[in-house]
Amino acid sequence: MWVIYQVVKKAQKRYNTPTMTEEIYKLDDNFEPRLVDPKEQVEEEVIEITLRPQTLGDFVGQEQIKAPLNISIEAAKKRSEPIEHVLLYGNPGLGKTTLANIIAKEMGVNIKVTAGPALERVGDLAAILSNLEEGDILFIDEIHRMNKTIEEVLYSAMEDFAIDLILGKGPAARTMRMPLDKFTLIGATTKMSLLSGPLRDRFGHVFHLNFYEHSDIEKIVTRNAKILSLDAHPEACEVISKRSRRTPRVANRLLKRVRDFAEVKFDGKIDKDITHQALEMLSIDEHGLDEVDKKILTAIIEKFEGGPVGLNTLAAAVAEEMDTIESIYEPYLLQTGMIDRTPRGRMATKLAYEHLNLGKKFKKQEEML
Ligand code: ADP
Repeated sequence: MWVIYQVVKKAQKRYNTPTMTEEIYKLDDNFEPRLVDPKEQVEEEVIEITLRPQTLGDFVGQEQIKAPLNISIEAAKKRSEPIEHVLLYGNPGLGKTTLANIIAKEMGVNIKVTAGPALERVGDLAAILSNLEEGDILFIDEIHRMNKTIEEVLYSAMEDFAIDLILGKGPAARTMRMPLDKFTLIGATTKMSLLSGPLRDRFGHVFHLNFYEHSDIEKIVTRNAKILSLDAHPEACEVISKRSRRTPRVANRLLKRVRDFAEVKFDGKIDKDITHQALEMLSIDEHGLDEVDKKILTAIIEKFEGGPVGLNTLAAAVAEEMDTIESIYEPYLLQTGMIDRTPRGRMATKLAYEHLNLGKKFKKQEEML
């Protein structure tokens, strides 16, 4: 037992060092903050806490999740049992972390937060799990980025509430089973396809977060303007919500940038005209597209005659990382119907041609086909 204690203590010491976000950014060499990037930026952590809804009632939209989740929470509370493991998947900034915190609050339990890439050794996971009390929640963000050995340890933790630790090396190695208190794992992922089957199967609930309706984003912007004590006209909130890529995190970011603009250039009051000016300065157009989105669409149209073009080639043509295009820009361009994803690559749609005022080119290319 003493050896297990040592292993766990050592890992706890390691685990208690940087914050989750610091870990993620440290591991992500390609990180470069962008205005429409739905991923959280370091300086946003504090303000996000103020704007984060605290109850399911305050969590706007995603009705397909809220109703079943509410029933599961109520049922678990009635039985005085932890809620079954939950997997949340969807694009960055849609509310996975927020939902995990809400579940903990509604269940009246503690939540420990970590991320797949931050768990480097089995000892890291063992340290966290052994610190959980009955009913506590462990939230693992980017669970698809966890390494395979740790993932396998997690299987028995999720299923049997125990982990097998290997002590020593070579012929003298022994396994020891460490029992755990019953906990709930909430995993979040942006890439469901990268999650292994056995891990996916161990979640009792799997919820998909969709892009938000414009009306829901508008509700979020209006609510947050109030929380930040801003003098924002409803029309201004509408403009911001329409350009927020149907993503709450982007909506919050644009609201704050418009606030800065209104405070510096005017008297702080946010009306429709000031909002337009601010967003124009930030190069965010009426569909919420920024310069990089436009660069991608223009490249598909101008350099590859509308496509299809492979992700690799496209990334090289616009001098962006493949992953950046795939996880930040492409999901929204697909959502807005500006591009199509075909087995042979990405294609620009008629809407993209029209949006870039290249409608004539579309007709010409159609005739050639
Ligand atoms: P994810 O974990 O999916 O990247 P977060 O849960 O961190 O996203 O959400 C980003 C921000 O967006 C939160 O701080 C919160 O303020 C806001 N947000 C997300 N979902 C909602 C929602 N349904 N209603 C209101 N605000 C939301």
